[in-house]
Amino acid sequence: MSILSDLLGALGSGRVEVVDLTAPLHSGTPLLQLPEPFANTIPFRLEEISRYDDRGPGWYWNDIHTGEHTGTHFDAPVHWATGRDGEDVSQVDPAKLVAPAAVLDFAGNAAQDSDFLLEIAHVKQWQEAHGPLPDGGWLLYRTGWDARGESQSEFLNGGHSPGISVECARWLAEETPIIGVGVETVGTDAGAAHSFEPAFPCHSYLLGAGKYGLTQLRNLAVLPPTGAVVLTAPLPIVGGSGSPTRVLALVER
Ligand code: MN
Repeated sequence: MSILSDLLGALGSGRVEVVDLTAPLHSGTPLLQLPEPFANTIPFRLEEISRYDDRGPGWYWNDIHTGEHTGTHFDAPVHWATGRDGEDVSQVDPAKLVAPAAVLDFAGNAAQDSDFLLEIAHVKQWQEAHGPLPDGGWLLYRTGWDARGESQSEFLNGGHSPGISVECARWLAEETPIIGVGVETVGTDAGAAHSFEPAFPCHSYLLGAGKYGLTQLRNLAVLPPTGAVVLTAPLPIVGGSGSPTRVLALVER
């Protein structure tokens, strides 16, 4: 038996489960809202071309209107000024897009404090229980924010949403072997991160180090702390700074 036929057997028998970490994409999908004077992205929208009618009697299809950073999506290094000489989303090595995941659950903390920040000490504590962060893998940061994902106002929460501290973002970018950080919130940074020094430290440090971001993930609650394998499939938009992305996790049951 080959490794891949073993895998297919395990998928067929349910010993390996496929968990969808992707939020459905529709016109109500929450969007980042930057304050004046900054420009903002458009809502996702379908524009019908034909639907079994005079415009195309036998078929249904749409054009899509979307930002690169809409719904569950991937941040490429070139998204940030610190990574401006780095990869665009089409240049990311596909071999890096199948990767192990460490899942850190701080939903309890975020429920107590919407502005909760992950600190280096939290990650070191997690490592004492579960081992080192995976080389070339994702740190997936659970905050329970996915439960708010069908409401723009609950999701943005007046600018109060959990994130990662400046020091921890720098440390994750420069001193750990992870490929990037995945979150449940609208972006990888905290709601208050515009006021941090530097502003938006996750974007600034991670993308500046050539690492990646994944946002608006769902279902992290059903992943184990270690052992899941994540398949991330951004569109290879040439010159793109990111892309809406299907994210799947393989989990042994
Ligand atoms: Mn983004």
